[in-house]
Amino acid sequence: MLLTILGSGSGGNAAVIQKGEHSILVDIGFSYRELSRRLRLCGISPESISSVFITHEHFDHIRGMKEFSRKHSVSIYVSEGTYENLFDEVKEVVKGKVGSFKTGENIELNGMSVKTFPVLHDAADPAGFTFSSGCKKIGYVTDIGSITDTVVSCLEMSSLIVLEANHDIDMLWNGSYPEYLKQRISGPHGHLSNDNALELLQCVMCKELRGIYLAHLSKENNRPELAFQTVYKPLAGKYNYVPKILIAKQDTAAEPYRL
Ligand SMILES: [Zn+2]
Ligand SMILES: [Zn+2]
Repeated sequence: MLLTILGSGSGGNAAVIQKGEHSILVDIGFSYRELSRRLRLCGISPESISSVFITHEHFDHIRGMKEFSRKHSVSIYVSEGTYENLFDEVKEVVKGKVGSFKTGENIELNGMSVKTFPVLHDAADPAGFTFSSGCKKIGYVTDIGSITDTVVSCLEMSSLIVLEANHDIDMLWNGSYPEYLKQRISGPHGHLSNDNALELLQCVMCKELRGIYLAHLSKENNRPELAFQTVYKPLAGKYNYVPKILIAKQDTAAEPYRL
């Protein structure tokens, strides 16, 4: 499996998992034009994408969904609650292609097993995913406000984890955001801080875990180096082996990771 994060953050999210001839797109948070541009730069043909998984209905995760669905023959997997909360015009375009799931269901496709699971976030029915093939497993969780037992148990034994590290708590609270937004972001249905990301990683550290992408970093309330150090230092102090830690960027695709 090859994971390429095309971009991550409140300005848009999308990632591609390639396995053999089939590719899965996770979220379409960029315009069709921008998504196509990034795919092209990464050498990924949009025609190779056979399935799309959507985490939730916030615009930074579905911006290009309607257009992509119109132009390509793909199956789009969204949770039942997410589908219900799409705009009618989006539903109209995607409905023939949607396979809606109950969060918690497993989906088998093209030799890959996709586990869906519920996460806490201020969306209708948000989901996290794991993508498994043989003994390799990619965990994908962004936009979660709390570390739940479900999230921890689903991420256990992952080989690669894409995990939200949205903000540094001090930068958020000392920053310029209005009070209600600070409350929302740091609340139980908001986003994980760098410290939260570390806490979750400590729950799922195992020898199988080879790589970690810190994702959905806030431009306003975080810095890549700060997110990296917050996670790296304590892990390096506690474990003999620390997985490779990479940062998913907003403006360009991140370095791909092959499993
Ligand atoms: Zn988001
Ligand atoms: Zn969101």
